[in-house]
Amino acid sequence: MSLEQKWNALTKKTYGTEIAKCSNEELYYSLLELTKEYIDGKTPVTGDKKVYYISAEFLIGKLLSNNLINLGLYEEVESLLAKNGKSLAALEEIEPEPSLGNGGLGRLAACFLDSIATLGLNGDGIGLNYHFGLFKQVFTNKLQTAEKNDWIEKQSWLRKTDVTFDVEFGDCTVKSRMYDIDVAGYESGVNKLHLFDLETVDESIVKKGINFDKENVEKNLTLFLYPDDSDEAGNLLRIYQQYFMVSNAARLIIAEMKEKGFDLRKLYDHAVIQINDTHPTMVIPELIRILVFEEDFTMSEAIEVVSKTCAYTNHTILAEALEKWPLKYLNKVVPQLIPIIKELHRRTAAKYADPKVQIIDKDGRVHMAHIDIHYGFSVNGVAAIHTDILKDTELNHFYKLYPDKFNNKTNGITFRRWLLSCNKELSALLTKTIGNGYKKDADELEKLLAYKEDADILNSLDAIKKQKKKELAEYIEKKEGIVLDTESIFDIQIKRLHEYKRQQMNALYIIHKYLEIKAGKKPVRPLTFIFGAKAAPAYIIAQDIIHLILVMQDIIAKDPAVSPYMKVVMVENYNVSYAEKLIPACDISEQISLASKEASGTGNMKFMLNGAVTLGTLDGANVEIGELVGEDNIYTFGKKSDEVIEHYAKADYVSKDYYDKSPIIKEAVDFIISKQALKAGNKKNLQRLYNELLNKDWFMTLLDLEEYIEVKDKMFADYEDREKWKRMMLVNVAKAGFFSSDRTIAEYNRDIWKL
Ligand SMILES: *Cc1c(COP(=O)(O)O)cnc(C)c1O
Repeated sequence: MSLEQKWNALTKKTYGTEIAKCSNEELYYSLLELTKEYIDGKTPVTGDKKVYYISAEFLIGKLLSNNLINLGLYEEVESLLAKNGKSLAALEEIEPEPSLGNGGLGRLAACFLDSIATLGLNGDGIGLNYHFGLFKQVFTNKLQTAEKNDWIEKQSWLRKTDVTFDVEFGDCTVKSRMYDIDVAGYESGVNKLHLFDLETVDESIVKKGINFDKENVEKNLTLFLYPDDSDEAGNLLRIYQQYFMVSNAARLIIAEMKEKGFDLRKLYDHAVIQINDTHPTMVIPELIRILVFEEDFTMSEAIEVVSKTCAYTNHTILAEALEKWPLKYLNKVVPQLIPIIKELHRRTAAKYADPKVQIIDKDGRVHMAHIDIHYGFSVNGVAAIHTDILKDTELNHFYKLYPDKFNNKTNGITFRRWLLSCNKELSALLTKTIGNGYKKDADELEKLLAYKEDADILNSLDAIKKQKKKELAEYIEKKEGIVLDTESIFDIQIKRLHEYKRQQMNALYIIHKYLEIKAGKKPVRPLTFIFGAKAAPAYIIAQDIIHLILVMQDIIAKDPAVSPYMKVVMVENYNVSYAEKLIPACDISEQISLASKEASGTGNMKFMLNGAVTLGTLDGANVEIGELVGEDNIYTFGKKSDEVIEHYAKADYVSKDYYDKSPIIKEAVDFIISKQALKAGNKKNLQRLYNELLNKDWFMTLLDLEEYIEVKDKMFADYEDREKWKRMMLVNVAKAGFFSSDRTIAEYNRDIWKL
């Protein structure tokens, strides 16, 4: 049967009518089921060894388009719908986004699953089936409020399995159930994302916003994803969630090993566990515990087998993000792990005296990363500079003990979602120009370099950018009620709101530009500044930064002397689906974190691939972007990471000095508490942010502000050299192949997993 026949048969059976007469909803849900049928027809990936990618977050985003692309059905479905007077784009809007992650770390896990399946590697993801994903952001009175974000509908990509386990906690035992989401590789086989859930979860205990009863684990365990990015947020429930995840993972892995008849004493020959950040760390003591108490291993045997099976990825050097759980908490939630953790500590302490490498510190806190490093066989950072900082500074004490464990795996993104799906026009131009090969071998994008002086190709690239800006402008007008000038330069900063990412520096630039225009210095071309960012609800300064941006958005929109020349828009509820619309439309990609603080970044890669030019510090993967495109095709500024690290070591950064020294900085900072700003915003938020910048500024905003202003202005001027700019776009696209997650995963497999 053809796809058309199958689909018609399905809609007739379910809705009693054919495609042409179905509503968009009926078409979406029937297409969902049909796509699952096609996936069932694919062969699962198998092999003698399997990677289990355990992660508390999988920010998968909508799945319909990607599945259709990976199954090779997209065009057929699209034209079939068109023939019936329908549009696939309209169906895509109906799908709720599963926001099962906070930001980069969770999105990386999703990109990795796509690449593992695409490369035909035997590997599944293991995580949690949060009933409410990352909160939905709503702006009221220029402040962020959080609402619950449900994504699980009667029909969804989730498949209920009959796999269940008992999970024991100190104060109760619960029953888990595994749900699966298929991961269909691009023109390849199928793997699984296993999401564990608790059947007794009670969605009705959620009160106003995202508040809920924190006491009853049986009702709330998988209710919510923790909304903190780069913050440990020490709550007992988080430990319950983590143990629930790894206990299920350990049970599943052991069951699979037994089912295949593999010898658990050779576990490492058949399984490798990638621990994504420290959230799944307890899988180490849990596996050891099971092997000792249920499988007759001696402690030493169990420790050896588990250590040869587990590998750890570090994602941050931010101290506040390195999990340290008090023994007291662990003892309440998982008393059965305490003897194991103490034994691991005892063995390490007997070998190494250095207090910096102990598992349990003098305050009785368990350093989760230390368990991973001592009792795993691999420790990787996520960009070259990040891994160097781990080796030289952050984890230097460990690097000296285990130099061979440390390795770098520069992050990547799946080109299926971040090019083929979100930018069909660019993808088509590439195919026409350099052939189809780049879809499977991203390095082939370099073939585009041969067209660097080709006016037709350069103009096509520019025309596509224009087209995507128009589409974005239409979408933003519909969603936010704000009209954008598509002739203006689109300068975009979208990522979680965090001081280290320095949205506040961008906001200060906007103040500076506003004052400049008011003083009569108009830009040659109008400027559009777009932000998208959620802030952890408990992160006060982040809320204040959002407030400042919304205040500037309002002041500028209402100022007829300035609004023709610049516009600010902070889009509401930035998520994967929004990113897919924003990124192809971007001219300038803002990657302005304080050097040394952004481990890698992946947004930077998505923008580059779509022909935006980076304005960035020498941080994370920006460094590698710069090396690839060359200094003529990127705009960098700011203090280098070693200088920043030295400032922290000496504690000699005083933001007030920079404020006092520079009239430009002073003017911009003072505006935050000017009469005009206070009239548009709240004194409490603005005064607090002003004080923070002047008296603390932990992430050194003012250190780089003047140079940022200078380089950004240079960039706007250079945009007017249209030929030069188009060439920069082309070089960025052509050199983006390195950042395919297919490359990243091939390296994980070559160096760590060895499947
Ligand atoms: C890629 C992505 C991120 C990560 O962005 P960074 O700029 O690397 O921090 C965060 N959120 C979403 C929705 C993304 O798609």
